[in-house]
Amino acid sequence: MKNKIVAGNWKMNKNFSEAEELLVSIAESLDDMRLETEIVVCTPSVYLEMAADISEESNFYVGAQNVSYAPKGAYTGEISAEMLKSAGADFCIVGHSERRNYFHETDEELAKKVDLLLENDIVPIFCCGEKLEERQSGNYFQVIDNQIKNALFHLDKEHFDGIILAYEPVWAIGTGLTATPEQAQEVHAHIRRIIEEKYGTEVAYNTYILYGGSCNARNALDLFSCQDVDGGLIGGASLVAEDFIAIVNAAETASKND
Ligand code: PEP
Repeated sequence: MKNKIVAGNWKMNKNFSEAEELLVSIAESLDDMRLETEIVVCTPSVYLEMAADISEESNFYVGAQNVSYAPKGAYTGEISAEMLKSAGADFCIVGHSERRNYFHETDEELAKKVDLLLENDIVPIFCCGEKLEERQSGNYFQVIDNQIKNALFHLDKEHFDGIILAYEPVWAIGTGLTATPEQAQEVHAHIRRIIEEKYGTEVAYNTYILYGGSCNARNALDLFSCQDVDGGLIGGASLVAEDFIAIVNAAETASKND
């Protein structure tokens, strides 16, 4: 049985006291649960230290949502991988579609970010996924292959083994439209296949491939029950403790039913 991972992506939400309240209520709920599922909460960077403090008394990990492609220096406003690590982040989302679309992040920059995260002992949660028109044109495997190969396939086997992938169809993010379990499984199996071709069966099996895109308490169990769906990256539903915990429970149930 492979345990699931459920990661919350808060995006640019919550002020300081709201963030504290949400972290505390996640921690309190988790206190009462004996979990196999690993939980990651990706907060805005300004809350990482607080999240790391609260997580010490609980059983969730802390993640960031973005990192600079440069290691240090004159990059006003940027945050380096070393800074994230020193503030308590053990995970970091890379290549989220919002960053690709609004901030024009390129595959080349994403490859540099991945390298810096790994050098600083932070697990990248690498996002890939097609836009609506790419799905409609039937071109989605090619889009996803390019995203993964261009940003990750320079890594050797040992380093690739430390990566989490998240398949996030852009048309499903924040839209209330979710991929069906069949659509998710089809892409996850394809991703695992291309990893296997490059890095072999063991790495392909070990690599976590999360689903993200309007995943919620109602649809999580069906999605997480798919053979190649190893958990979820959760946006909107991670902003309410009960909803997030319900998704964690769905992950527990799915891995027990495996
Ligand atoms: C996300 O932003 O990673 C995401 C999956 O968002 P949502 O769950 O809100 O669709």
